[in-house]
Amino acid sequence: MTSSRVLVLNSGSSSVKYQLLDMSDSRRLAQGLVERIGEETSRVKHSPADGETREWSGAISDHDAALKAVAQELSRDGLGLDSPELAAIGHRVVHGGKHFTEPTVIDDTVLAEIERLIPVAPLHNPANLTGIRTAQALRPDLPQVAVFDTAFHTTMPESAARYAIDVETADAHRIRRYGFHGTSHAYVSRATAKLLGKAPEEANVIVLHLGNGASASAVRGGRCVDTSMGLTPLEGLVMGTRSGDLDPAVIFHLMRVGGMSADEIDNLLNKKSGLIGLCGDNDMREIRRRIEEGDESAQLAFDIYIHRLRKYIGAYYAVLGRVDAVAFTAGVGENASAVREAAVAGLAELGLAVDDELNAVRSDEPRLISPPSARVAVAVVPTDEELEIATQTYALVKGSDILT
Ligand code: AMP
Repeated sequence: MTSSRVLVLNSGSSSVKYQLLDMSDSRRLAQGLVERIGEETSRVKHSPADGETREWSGAISDHDAALKAVAQELSRDGLGLDSPELAAIGHRVVHGGKHFTEPTVIDDTVLAEIERLIPVAPLHNPANLTGIRTAQALRPDLPQVAVFDTAFHTTMPESAARYAIDVETADAHRIRRYGFHGTSHAYVSRATAKLLGKAPEEANVIVLHLGNGASASAVRGGRCVDTSMGLTPLEGLVMGTRSGDLDPAVIFHLMRVGGMSADEIDNLLNKKSGLIGLCGDNDMREIRRRIEEGDESAQLAFDIYIHRLRKYIGAYYAVLGRVDAVAFTAGVGENASAVREAAVAGLAELGLAVDDELNAVRSDEPRLISPPSARVAVAVVPTDEELEIATQTYALVKGSDILT
């Protein structure tokens, strides 16, 4: 029997998201999530492709118990993890530093390196490690592959990756711009080239991943040359709850004058800033509804969000020199036509425009929203990070290049 299934695991500190895919036809067989691990009221939601979604609550004490619950749910659909059809498990790993430029089969050395990166990813890498170790214990015979959020950005030149600070200090603490959402930027830039009928090597694309977290990237011929997130996901665009770019002196000011601690400022900038800090809402649907009702703080939050986005489009236009497409993706990018319209409004001189009718279309398919005459294509390309992780995992374990 050929093994063509890949289980994709995205392990957070108190949650595990998963998808089982059949890579012979890239079909999703099941997906789900375990939340509130470690609490009395953990929640499991499991959706088989060919059946009803099942949800239940109960105490799930740790990641081991969570993965066993996932295995049990999959077994009920005849998709058990003991099946010989399972080829590999692909893990999303947030931080791979400079070292990991490709998806990597996990061994002890790889585990040690992911662990060594914990100081630059204190929230994410420990949870990812727990997920990997748990899956290894469950299926020690199976290849486990790490797919890093940072890997796609390791092609950035030093001129884009280095901060202009003392080199010795930067290197001693591994301070540089790593970028995140790389799996999504890789998938969307490739899918955009395909939409244009070009090979990835022929297309220059600005990818705007606008979800609750948000980042932009400049992709030249399939390789990332700049991205808006940095050492951590805090840099760059205005996000749901993160400030994005700000003068670093704001931090000293809050410490010296505001009497705040480093942890308090960390919390302020990551959790209470961005759209939620500006207007109290981080859901773009709610912000648009409030704007329709004449709410001024929602309007200002939207304007600040759009202003930053336009600055990055302009910056990456200059970085690339020639742009074939601007691609919108993730929750806001795929759904909020008002954001797409405002982001490129008045940029006809740069060859950028959206067609109102095309922009209003709702679809799960990649599509162009620019007028046919536009010099630069504007596209909406739904992201699929799980499919990308599964594709990279499968290509690695099967030793073939099946990336499309
Ligand atoms: P993500 O992080 O990619 O799941 O994106 C989540 C965000 O997408 C939410 O916070 C919403 O702001 C936004 N979103 C989802 N659906 C819509 C929609 N129909 N219109 C506008 N924004 C949306």
